[in-house]
Amino acid sequence: MSVQTYSENLNVLTQTQLVIKEALAKLGFGSEMYELLKEPLRVLTVRIPIRMDDGTVKVFTGYRAQHNDAVGPTKGGIRFHPEVTEDEVKALAIWMSLKCGIAGLPYGGGKGGIICEPREMSFRELERLSRGYVRAISQLVGPTKDIPAPDVYTNSQYMAWMMDEYSRIREYDSPGFITGKPLVLGGSLGRDSATARGVTIAIEEAAKAKGMALAGSRVVVQGFGNAGGYLAKFMHDKGALVVGISDAYGGLHDPNGLDIDYLLDRRDSFGTVSKLFKNTITNQDILTLDCDILVPAAIENQITSQNAAAIKAKIIVEAANGPTTLQATRMLTDRGVLLIPDIIANAGGVIVSYFEWVQNNQGLYWTEQEVDRRLQEIMEQSFASVYETAKLRKIDMRLAAYMVGVRRMAEACQLRGWV
Ligand code: GLU
Repeated sequence: MSVQTYSENLNVLTQTQLVIKEALAKLGFGSEMYELLKEPLRVLTVRIPIRMDDGTVKVFTGYRAQHNDAVGPTKGGIRFHPEVTEDEVKALAIWMSLKCGIAGLPYGGGKGGIICEPREMSFRELERLSRGYVRAISQLVGPTKDIPAPDVYTNSQYMAWMMDEYSRIREYDSPGFITGKPLVLGGSLGRDSATARGVTIAIEEAAKAKGMALAGSRVVVQGFGNAGGYLAKFMHDKGALVVGISDAYGGLHDPNGLDIDYLLDRRDSFGTVSKLFKNTITNQDILTLDCDILVPAAIENQITSQNAAAIKAKIIVEAANGPTTLQATRMLTDRGVLLIPDIIANAGGVIVSYFEWVQNNQGLYWTEQEVDRRLQEIMEQSFASVYETAKLRKIDMRLAAYMVGVRRMAEACQLRGWV
């Protein structure tokens, strides 16, 4: 990155704004464009009263942020997590814009979140919360306005409840309102594993760039949810040795390779498996294990200046959103570690969400091979354009990804006469 120093006390939104500013400046856009793109165009805060199973009413806070809709409707997931904040949702919405820009999808970025602890709520309480959230944001969203999807601690069941609620409000069947749905409700083949498929393609491209073979390499995955779980499986199937995995409570390590099929079989719906074992390691230990490829697939701010120097991997591929701080990005890049940023690496999810939406709009459904072929093509193109930009401009992959990601949106804003 440039001469600028980045403080780690900045929150994810402020860190994101710094890179957006640098990317726009390098592309030759002025400060007015930065003023427009540094924050979402719209953020709605909602309060959702929910009748709990014990008869009491609990009021939850939720958000929906829409970063920019110059290119098309906004798109992005909804997370259920106790640490959701407004700034985090805003940053996540901006990252969605960048992801869609790199992948060439006709969307801007959006994101939603509810402050809650889904691991302590019953199935019916989660259903009521999902439906309550849709009622609260229904004015703002829709198949041609803003299209939600799953994110941390939400899955196809939540999408089904939300789609049903939206369809009831609008009084017509609206599968294109939300993606990541179950297959029988208009979901796409391949959507469930799409994030991990995309991460796998990014890993293969990164290994090629580094002249490294994937078969026989040692991989560590932090997180065992939708992204981390499928990824560990795909790495294992490709002949890599998965030597470490973790969930929110701790990690498992075996230098000879873990039995991934067994662990997947034993994990719960929140991706928890480590509780079943003794001798677990911490989520910090997992990051500095001896390995070739490290995949943070959990939450933000895991790789910082505190542990970047101790990381042994030669390739880091961000399956999670925002796992590495800017300072750590620089420290790792300076040491020759190839870091593939989130906005390329985990774009497989939104890419197949786009395919799902296209299929819903057409009423014509694709085979899994069709989905995989198109995903492969977009991921390879995305990787190549960011990798070339980084090499050509002699900048790190994150800044290069922001440059590629923000350009089309900035041009669309100019063409619409907004700036
Ligand atoms: N939540 C995922 C992400 O962060 C997927 C979003 C989508 O499919 O729209 O990219």
